[in-house]
Amino acid sequence: MANKSKFQAIKGTRDLLPPETGLWSHVEQTAHSVFSTFGFGEIRPPIFEPTELFARSIGLDTDVVSKEMYSFEDRGDSSVSLRPEATASVCRAYIEHGMAQLPQPVKLYYMGPMFRRERPQKGRYRQFYQIGAELLGGSDAPAIDAEVIEMVMTFFDRLGLTGVELDINSIGHAADDCRLGYVARLKSALELVKDKLGSDSQRRIETNPLRVLDSKLEHEQTIIATLPRIADHLCADCAAHYAAVKRQLELRGVFFKENWRLVRGLDYYMRTTFEITAKGLGSQNAVCGGGRYDGLVELLGGPATQGIGFAIGEDRLILSLQEAGKGAAPQGRDVYVAWMGERAYATAVRAAKDLRIVGFSVELSPTELKFGKALERADKLGSRYALILGDNELSEGLWTLKTLADGTQQKFTEPQLMEFLKKAKSAAQRS
Ligand code: AMP
Repeated sequence: MANKSKFQAIKGTRDLLPPETGLWSHVEQTAHSVFSTFGFGEIRPPIFEPTELFARSIGLDTDVVSKEMYSFEDRGDSSVSLRPEATASVCRAYIEHGMAQLPQPVKLYYMGPMFRRERPQKGRYRQFYQIGAELLGGSDAPAIDAEVIEMVMTFFDRLGLTGVELDINSIGHAADDCRLGYVARLKSALELVKDKLGSDSQRRIETNPLRVLDSKLEHEQTIIATLPRIADHLCADCAAHYAAVKRQLELRGVFFKENWRLVRGLDYYMRTTFEITAKGLGSQNAVCGGGRYDGLVELLGGPATQGIGFAIGEDRLILSLQEAGKGAAPQGRDVYVAWMGERAYATAVRAAKDLRIVGFSVELSPTELKFGKALERADKLGSRYALILGDNELSEGLWTLKTLADGTQQKFTEPQLMEFLKKAKSAAQRS
């Protein structure tokens, strides 16, 4: 039973601990390596920004800004917020550092904690982690949308994520003959069925009618199925862009499903939107969301700039990998170094150092223990071998190595021991 302390992690936050953090590092290393093969470089923006940055970019009527941000007065100076997402920060940085002068497009990725005051449940936290990428400037070529999506799918594939499904849609652009016209039609259609909708959807008819399409309420599903669909109301350019994105995805062998109800929650999206789900996550099964946001940099005071990006929920990605049995291996040690006597201790310290240099994980007993006790500790720590150094070993120049799984013991000179362990390790890695 865990000890109860007066202090506990705040609701919706949690400690990530070994061995699970091993899986987190693996996921992050894979992101560094896959994203760099697509020419992306890492950006590390601050964790807090002026509240106004998020209000303006994400939109005042969104849940994220109106209900979920951790905002506070910075000692009476001005209002700052913990970042609920990082796209706004990346766009702010693009403007601030004059990145429009660099060869376009600029390709950036990030990883780190985000903060939203949501109702905590499995796969939904108040401090959660995202791995995301943004591609800014250059052009709005459909090939760019497709390559960004191909990159996420490659990353998931490399991790061995299972049950991955990609949904795509186009939400057009903000013009009367495109999305604005559609939203007006949608609103009129919703007014006609208002009485049959729940209170959330009723409210959204006024604040953000597109969000009604997100509803998961059972009784609203048949009503939503009869509503007008955006694909039938896109302007010619947006329709052509969407058709080309689909062709480009096919060319890259990326499987997708069209989902006309995929509108995404944040205001800045236009044209391509996408969402990826994975297995083993229950109701919170979206592991990645993204889309095009060509007007955002300009909205934040920069030059007119095309943009597209995505954010992966790392917590959910890890959950899904664990559910599929791809969790981290328990963190054992390669070698436990047991010693008795001052002279043996000096040799033990040196042996530990040499073994670590060549990459073994080593536990060196910090105090002198009887060999029986030392072997018990080695076993508890999940060590593969115990290196035993006592007076006999030192005077003979032959070190004792015990294999804990079967209890066998062998004697080696120092160079022989190194050779033996290296061979055993590479054999274990191959199997
Ligand atoms: P969004 O920034 O809302 O588009 O979300 C992108 C992805 O981040 C989602 O698909 C989730 O995987 C993840 N995500 C968003 N909110 C949370 C949360 N509160 N807890 C855990 N993951 C989240």
